[in-house]
Amino acid sequence: MSTKKPNILLVYTGGTIGMIKDSKTGALRAFDFNNLSKRIPELNLLDCVIETISFEEPIDSSNMNLKYWTQIAKIIEENYNRFDGFVVLHGSDTMSYTASALSFMLENLSKPVIFTGSQLPIGDLRTDAKENLITSIQIASLQKNNKPVIQEVGLYFEYKLYRANRTTKINAEHFEAFASLNYPDLAESGVHLKVNNEYLLKPKKATKLKVFKKFNENIALVKLFPSISKTLLECIFNTPHLKGIIIETYGAGNCSTENWFIELLENTIKKGVHIINVTQCSGGSVAMGQYETSEKLKKIGVISGKDITTEAAICKLMYLLGQKIIPKTFKITFETSLRGEMA
Ligand code: ASP
Repeated sequence: MSTKKPNILLVYTGGTIGMIKDSKTGALRAFDFNNLSKRIPELNLLDCVIETISFEEPIDSSNMNLKYWTQIAKIIEENYNRFDGFVVLHGSDTMSYTASALSFMLENLSKPVIFTGSQLPIGDLRTDAKENLITSIQIASLQKNNKPVIQEVGLYFEYKLYRANRTTKINAEHFEAFASLNYPDLAESGVHLKVNNEYLLKPKKATKLKVFKKFNENIALVKLFPSISKTLLECIFNTPHLKGIIIETYGAGNCSTENWFIELLENTIKKGVHIINVTQCSGGSVAMGQYETSEKLKKIGVISGKDITTEAAICKLMYLLGQKIIPKTFKITFETSLRGEMA
């Protein structure tokens, strides 16, 4: 058995977790990650070797975009062979989007990439940052037979490890800020760190990491509401260069049966724009055809998002459009689980 300690790379992108309060002014400012172990001496007790890398200018995650997603993917790609696991520190606001995007970008991933953050800054007396950070590093360090236990993109927050592309931020106040309503927790941190092995992704054997960075951003997201206007929808659907639209429908994928609405969708699909049906509900699945109000969607070729989150649907759509999949197979590819993001 090897006695080598796992090497963990900590990637700081920004967000509340890396901030400390200036004792004089009280303002929050980004923390110097080169002094990490001075600030959090507990890290020295962990059974791993930690290196850190930080965005030159850490950002609030509300400013996240494809350029930054690519930057994180590149950091992981360039350091993939030197490290056994990665912990990405990220603002919680858009963490589910970034973590979902990374799950698609990192093909054949066989090492842990754990996203975490916090609701309170690391320097705050009541902070949740220390537990989130320490346990995320522990999870990224877990090994069995010299192989990482977690071999996918996870999100750790408030005692729970989730599959990242199954998460949604549900609370801006509670420490329990995330939920994974359609997939069980991958691990739970209590007195013991309990990993639910049966729910982990098992990657294909001996395949090399491939990093895909050519996402196509020409997509739209429309949340339906009773009385949504034809003018508004026509305006969105006729956006130049649009390649895909995600529609957040009601309940199990239901929508208005008015002729103008169905015709607009049908004509848009005929123009070659992919339409994905995702439910507005936080949990549960689209089941087109279950009600009369979704039957027509099925007939005109709307794609079922099944139980995918909106965050993951957005990332999967950008990813698949970037892959230049032929129109005939696009629907079946979207409806297939690629990274455990849907049933
Ligand atoms: N606004 C912050 C961000 O998402 C909140 C946080 O870090 O939790 O960057």
